[in-house]
Amino acid sequence: MRLAGKVALITGGASGIGRATVEKFVREGAKVMIADIDLPSAETVVADIEATAPGATAAVRVDVSDYAEVEAAVQRAAEVFGKLDVIFNNAGIAGGRPLLEHDPERDYRPLVSIDQDGVYYGILAAGRQFVRQGTPGVIISTSSIYGEQAAELSFTYSAAKAAVISFTRSAAYELAEHGIRAVAITPGRVGTPIINQFSEELRATFASEQLRDRLTEPSEIADVVAYLASDEANAINGTVVHVDDGYSAFKQRLE
Ligand code: NAD
Repeated sequence: MRLAGKVALITGGASGIGRATVEKFVREGAKVMIADIDLPSAETVVADIEATAPGATAAVRVDVSDYAEVEAAVQRAAEVFGKLDVIFNNAGIAGGRPLLEHDPERDYRPLVSIDQDGVYYGILAAGRQFVRQGTPGVIISTSSIYGEQAAELSFTYSAAKAAVISFTRSAAYELAEHGIRAVAITPGRVGTPIINQFSEELRATFASEQLRDRLTEPSEIADVVAYLASDEANAINGTVVHVDDGYSAFKQRLE
């Protein structure tokens, strides 16, 4: 119960890494506002958890690419659960095309609006809430291995995920005087709908890129996020925690 008494808002909490993190946070004693553009799926998560942990979760529809909606979701979490201690800026989309085939309105703007602006808005809205409350808060944001490297078809995604790391450093710097911590995580290949939509062959290739030739389970990312959100991780601030089973360190290993 390392998150007992804490209130968290998790964007993208209706699926994949976000959903696994909602479940883990609740098991650790937190109350969680699930903020997702897919409200029916978010409500399904609430209903599924209700049987074992009544009143531990609630859902709100949010499009993270709209600051007013993100701010409203933060307000809603504080109204429903009395305060906010943790935000997990995790909602994101993937996708990409060769650079020279880009249409900026299709291949750049929407992804940056969600994966980059959405994290900035979460940091800003939660940061303001923490300062209003006068309590130290924790900001955790989902970057990617692609935030630290160029990769095939990832021109826009890499830029947005790099911004998440930069935002994290700057937020930790600017908000330290209020006792607030900020940490980014960089998942590698995680078995969520983003990856599971691909063929078995491609998923096997993705798995082979990680040291132990397996996709990471969403619950394994959630375990790390719960630790980072807890007081036990109080010394981890303004940095990146790699959760990629060695992908970034050993991409070039010889077979
Ligand atoms: P997912 O598709 O299972 O979940 C993403 C969630 O975000 C969904 O519930 C979706 O409805 C929500 N969402 C999408 N656009 C939104 C918006 N505009 N506003 C609010 N919610 C929105 O994907 P996932 O794999 O769990 O991805 C979660 C995060 O992890 C993303 O930021 C993704 O880039 C990152 N990531 C995933 C992997 C991987 O291998 N799966 C690797 C690195 C990073």
